[in-house]
Amino acid sequence: MDIGKEILAIKKELPENITLVAVSKTKPNEDIMAAYNVGHKIFGENKVQDLVTKYETLPKDIEWHFIGHPQSNKVKYIAPFISLIHGVDSLKLLKVINKEAAKNSRTVNCLLQFHIATEATKFGLSINEAREILKSEAFQNLKNIDIVGVMGMATFTEDKNQIRNEFGTLKNIFNLLKNEYFSASKKFVEISMGMSNDYGLAVEEGSTMVRVGSKIFGARNY
Ligand SMILES: *Cc1c(COP(=O)(O)O)cnc(C)c1O
Repeated sequence: MDIGKEILAIKKELPENITLVAVSKTKPNEDIMAAYNVGHKIFGENKVQDLVTKYETLPKDIEWHFIGHPQSNKVKYIAPFISLIHGVDSLKLLKVINKEAAKNSRTVNCLLQFHIATEATKFGLSINEAREILKSEAFQNLKNIDIVGVMGMATFTEDKNQIRNEFGTLKNIFNLLKNEYFSASKKFVEISMGMSNDYGLAVEEGSTMVRVGSKIFGARNY
């Protein structure tokens, strides 16, 4: 796997306004440096401990994204430096992130994760659950978080139409929430959808941010 070559090829093919998050989970520092050395600086991880170790040992101009669902008791370890948390799906977690961000005198950017797949195992909110959060007074009192958009994962299937529909659903959710709660916000702009196998479809359906791992770094051995 020529990581540098692969990432440059993906960036060349992606429209310019789309952010590529290189998902480096389980991969060693030298793989991340291979991407960094061709100019890539945005990486995604989904384990707090791995992320902290990588943050401490790699260049400080890397922008780190947490792409999963952080456990509440571990948010404090990433709050000092995290750029974006993709997988937020409860008011409880938002409160924890807000508290830890405040301790660091920061505002932490978050994406609300939505359940768009048919698999029961994937995390995420429904639109009505999101509305309940967004209209609550408790949410409005959170001053150290910014909701900058939405995130979702399509079903793992060969059926391209199904994947396309699920991404379309997320785009609709984004538009509804934008109209109902964020029409005055310049920050609510991101639709994080698309992974190695489906980011082309995601881009066609309106993604602004794709999260690509194995296509850049090779298959993961857990
Ligand atoms: C692992 C992971 C990815 C990347 O998956 P690939 O199929 O390797 O591109 C993207 N998003 C999330 C939330 C992940 O956990």
